[in-house]
Amino acid sequence: MTGEETRHILEAHANGQLAGNGPFTQKCQTWLEANTGCIKTLLTHSCTAALEMAALLIDLKPGDEVIMPSYTFVSTANAFVLRGAVPVFIDIREDTLNMDETLIEAAITSKTKAIVVVHYAGVSCEMHAIMKMAEQYGLFVIEDAAQGVMSSYHDKPLGSIGHLAAFSFHETKNVISGEGGCLLINDQRFVQRAEVLWEKGTNRSSFFRGEVDKYTWVDVGSSFLPGELIAAFLWAQLQHAEEITDRRLQLWQHYHLAFSTPETDGAIRRPVIPDHCRHNAHMYYLLFNSLETRSDFIAWMKEHHILTVFHYVPLHLAPAGKRYCRTSGQLPVTESLSNRIVRLPLWPGLKDQQQRVIDRVLQHLT
Ligand SMILES: *Cc1c(COP(=O)(O)O)cnc(C)c1O
Repeated sequence: MTGEETRHILEAHANGQLAGNGPFTQKCQTWLEANTGCIKTLLTHSCTAALEMAALLIDLKPGDEVIMPSYTFVSTANAFVLRGAVPVFIDIREDTLNMDETLIEAAITSKTKAIVVVHYAGVSCEMHAIMKMAEQYGLFVIEDAAQGVMSSYHDKPLGSIGHLAAFSFHETKNVISGEGGCLLINDQRFVQRAEVLWEKGTNRSSFFRGEVDKYTWVDVGSSFLPGELIAAFLWAQLQHAEEITDRRLQLWQHYHLAFSTPETDGAIRRPVIPDHCRHNAHMYYLLFNSLETRSDFIAWMKEHHILTVFHYVPLHLAPAGKRYCRTSGQLPVTESLSNRIVRLPLWPGLKDQQQRVIDRVLQHLT
């Protein structure tokens, strides 16, 4: 935390408005629009909620298909399953662990409506190729940029490239508010309806701007917005977003240099950041050669009181994934990498302990 969160929360308390869409929500949204270049943002209570809004905005019908990676968090798929749509999983790339854009075309059918990209570890997917494919087939692109705050692709901030995008401010992410997120809109067609969905299906936002003379139920919707205390907390974080990112990048780089020799020796593989991607050091991971060598490593680190974790169980292998989704072809890279990845501790408050982590890793690997 930055130390300024409680001051803003006290100010929100003094303002007397605790419901959402107050002064702190406005400040956060203005900041997010200025820093991403998207035309409109709406704070939500989670990235999951923002993805649910995106699924509503593109008007999915039961049976419509949405192409996405299986190597992701459940919300990427769930938001679309809730609308009766069918996630169609494609494999990921060996280098960035992002969706393999060369597999998209073979997954497109007459039912395909959208491509949902996930910028894994805050490293961008190959958006030029993906946007071109979407345009050619008339598909929407939704960025699950939960991990991508402050990252960019060819100097364009993540979240500003697809038609719609979602950030997460969950406490496990880089910029946080406990639970929290936002919808980012890059296509004017969605702006007005997004505000209505956000405000429980009412035209409350237009009413407060004086555009309509009564406030009423006009569409479907839900309560997607966070309260002002959450926005007040987030405001402190956004004001320090650059510092938080710089600090994480320093720590990331320190790990990266330290593990260069074991990579050369073939003991592990380090993350790959393409030259045209600026990342946000959301995570530092190592790829082992097998499930067995990874398990040995996690046990070794645990013995030395260092918690290292893996993820994700690929969605196509999960019970709900089997029930609601299908795959396009085999997913050998997803299945292999998910068994071999391990994440190392990384947060802005990490200081001398980082050297202890590094020493233990090197001791095990060499
Ligand atoms: C964290 C995460 C989410 C969910 O974010 P919430 O804010 O907790 O809803 C969705 N997708 C990905 C890729 C994530 O990492």
